[in-house]
Formats: sequence, C-alpha cells, structure tokens
Amino acid sequence: MMDHNQSAIRNIGIVAHVDAGKTTTTEHILYESGRIRSLGRVDAGTAQTDWLDIERERGISVRAASTAFQWKGCTVNLIDTPGHVDFSSEVERSLRILDGAILIVSAVEGVQAHTETLWRALEALKIPTLIVINKMDRVGANPTGVLKELNRFLSGGIVPVQRYSGTEEDFRSVLRLWNRRGDGTVARAADDLQEDYDALLERLAEQDEALLDDYVGGMPVSDERLIDSLTELTRQGKVQPLLYSAAGKGIGIPELMDAIVELLPAPAGRAEDPLSGIVFRLERDKAMGKIAMVRLYGGRIVNRDVIRNYTLGTDEKVTQIRKIHAGHQEDVGVLEAGDIAGVCGLSRVRIGDIIGSPDAVSPEHRLTEPLLTVQVSPAQAADYPQLVAALQELTEEDPLLDLQWHPLERELHMKIIGPIQLEVLTHVLQSRFGLSAAFGKPTVIYKETPSAEGYGFVAYTMPKPCWAILKFRIEPGERGSGLSYSSVVKPERLLPGYQNEVARRV
Ligand code: GDP
Repeated sequence: MMDHNQSAIRNIGIVAHVDAGKTTTTEHILYESGRIRSLGRVDAGTAQTDWLDIERERGISVRAASTAFQWKGCTVNLIDTPGHVDFSSEVERSLRILDGAILIVSAVEGVQAHTETLWRALEALKIPTLIVINKMDRVGANPTGVLKELNRFLSGGIVPVQRYSGTEEDFRSVLRLWNRRGDGTVARAADDLQEDYDALLERLAEQDEALLDDYVGGMPVSDERLIDSLTELTRQGKVQPLLYSAAGKGIGIPELMDAIVELLPAPAGRAEDPLSGIVFRLERDKAMGKIAMVRLYGGRIVNRDVIRNYTLGTDEKVTQIRKIHAGHQEDVGVLEAGDIAGVCGLSRVRIGDIIGSPDAVSPEHRLTEPLLTVQVSPAQAADYPQLVAALQELTEEDPLLDLQWHPLERELHMKIIGPIQLEVLTHVLQSRFGLSAAFGKPTVIYKETPSAEGYGFVAYTMPKPCWAILKFRIEPGERGSGLSYSSVVKPERLLPGYQNEVARRV
C-alpha cells in the first residue's frame, strides 16, 4: 500500500470578492509550488508566444474543481469555490467540504459586501481562515484602514502575523515573524520584532487562558509557545491570522503557502474507518465521462473497487481515480481518507451523493438540495414590491434558490437548504438592497429516495437551529405536500434505526 500521511494533507479554498486577486493568487501559488512551468497573466491581450500552452495549463489548474500542489512536505488540495458568492446554496455546499480557507481582501477596495457575506458563511461553518490583504502595491493601498474595517465588520479575532515594508510602489516585501525549523522548533525571524510579538501575545492571551495567566503573572512566554498557541487557536477558528501580499508580483506568496501548511488544520478521519465520503462536484471529460469529485472522510477507494452510493442505493465499479496537478491529470489509483480526487466510473452519481456510509459525514454535509420552505415578508409592508424584485434578482444568480410568489395572498415562499442561507440572505437583502426581511418558521419538504423504504428529510427548529436527517414512513395521500417539522417527528413513524438519531440531534 502507498504511504499515506493524513497529517500532511490540507484541503483549502480561496474566497474573495470579485477582483480582489483570487485568480492571480492561485496562479502564483501554483507557479511557486513548481507545478506550472510558466506563468500566465490574468489580464487579457498579453501576447506571448506560448500563450496557448499557458492558457491551457492554467485554464485546467486554476479553474479545476480541485488542484493539488506540494509544499514543504504537504499535499495541498486547492478546492475551487463558485464565483457567485452573493447568495448561493452552492457556495454553502462547496465551503462545507473545506478544512481551511483563505479570504482575500483588496488593500484598495477594502471590505466589500461580498467579503462580509463570505466571512459570515465561513464563521457559521467554523472554517479556520487566513486573511490576506492583497494589492499592497496598488496606488491607493491602505492596509491600516482595511485592517480597521476588517476588525469592525468581520468581528473575528484578526491577528497580524507579518510585518510589511512600504505600500503602493514602495511595497517590497513581507516579513514573517517566525520560521519553523525542520525539527519543529520555532526561531524568531529577526531580532527587532519585540513589538510584534508583544502585540501577538496580547491578542492570543484574550483567547488562551493559560497564556493569559502567564502574561498577567509576568512569566516569560517562549516564541515556540506563542506560535503553538497561534496555530491551535487558528485551527479552532478562534483567531484569523492576517497576511499581506502583492499577488501580481508574487510578493507574499511563499509566506502565504507556509502559513497554509503551518497554521491550517489537517483533515480528520482514518483509512481504517468505514468508507464514507461525499460528492461535491461533477466534472465531465470527453474520454472519461462523468468524474465525481469526492471528498473522502473515512476509508479508502482503490481502482476497480465496487463502491456503494448510499444516497441512490446502488453499487458501481470505480474505473480510475484522477487527480489534477496543475496542468495535468493523472490516474493515482487510490483515494485515502482525508483526501480529495475525481472518481470515474460512477455513471449515475449526482452532486451531494454519499459514498459508502454516511457515518463520517456530518448531517449538514449531507444536504444537497432545498428541503425547506420558508415564508418571507418585508419588515415594512410597503416594501413588498422591492422585496419581490430583490429576491427575483437573487434567484437568477442562484439556480437552487426557488421563489414562489402568490400575489393574491401577498405571500412569498422560498426554498432553502440551511440556516446559514437565511443568515446570509438577511445580510445581503440589507446591504445590497437596503431591505429588512422577516422569515417565518421553516417547513420541511420531504424528498423521496428511490431505493430506500422510507423518505429522507431534514428537520430544522427555531429559534435554535438543529438538524436531523431521518427516514420515515409516508402515509398515503401525503405525497407531494409539505409537512411541518413538528408533525413529522412522530416516533412511531420513524423507521428503525432513526429514533436514536432524532434523540441525539433534535
Ligand atoms: P479575481 O476576480 O479575484 O480572481 O481577481 P484577479 O486575480 O483576476 O485580479 C483582478 C485584477 O487585479 C487583475 O487585473 C490582476 O492583474 C490585478 N491584480 C491582482 N492582484 C494584484 C496585486 O497584488 N497587485 C496589483 N497591482 N494588481 C493585482
């Protein structure tokens, strides 16, 4: 068997408001990792003789559902998140499979509505996040102002972990505060960093009690202890390290890659666990047909394995397991717990399907399509037309968002997949359209699962969100209608094996 070291995997995504530099950063990361031989440019019209090659290479890798690169002994899977970040169940779904994220903000434009939306989703999903202020070399770059905005809007624990020299055309470099040696020990990057270390210690002590005790008691805190605390708090999502870059010039990119490997967490789950994974995206390939992008939480898949699609209740044979390393795909033959790859041969697979058993997949991950409806109304009755127009606009951006408007009753219903969507929607309606909306109690829509004897659905209780995935019997005549969650969670109608799950989760 191949050597599999799960602690050396990072599954991360880069998110940003449009134009903040996501594409440029991705390109430079892949370039830096040595996978892309030559560097393309985002700006159109840059004539280069080998442009086609570059375009092809970077077209495949930068926009791939998942592309892997090696850095400092780690395999980093860079997972693409959809461009439409405003209000999308697809975004929610794709963020859920990340173990860590990089949120890029422009040093010129600062925090945008999109940035806040993304941050809310990352925060709600408790995804450890690094924040990068990019375009430090641009005229008008104002990192101090942007940091203030970040502190105000993002309400997180943002901790600067770098020092930078100059801004705009004088922006030359970022200075990391520490280096981690091969043996794991920490060395201060320069001698004159006392101020930065003190500031870091103060921020971390707000979250780390043991550190606070020592700090207040005047005990010396070693550099190593400080950086270990930073790592731990970042991985718990309690603080967000702040970095700087000029991605267009490649400045700050190797330091960002170090931070990904050092500060963001490795995936959980083990090869010995039962096979358990989720399909988060589908790709199509002329030769291979459907390629299911699978995030595996437990177990292992090897070429020619017959694997179970839990959601469909079918078994299919895996023909190939493909990974994209910047620019080229290859059959790697095996997919291990914690890792991500394209699985070929599953002709019936759909996005959101569970592979193997659902054991290691958390209930929230299992959501695939809208299963709840909720009534929406404006805070001011006079705002009805504006609310309808705003929601219609958002529906166009998100194909999964389903809006039903009953003009006579003046009732507006929407299908949603989760509580985060409601939170994000509230926020977007406010910030983009200046509208406040109120939501009624969500109603469960049940969904038929073809192979199983029962029906799966999701229960959602207010005001404290709580989820359950259940199987229950449907009485004749109930088909096609919505059921409110309270009417569904009747123990006698739950199929065997699901009672405990209800007790646990609801
Ligand atoms: P995306 O929409 O977030 O993917 O942003 P892009 O990576 O496409 O960048 C948008 C524009 O900003 C492009 O014209 C880039 O060349 C430019 N850009 C990206 N990063 C930087 C940077 O660090 N400095 C400067 N000056 N321009 C940048």
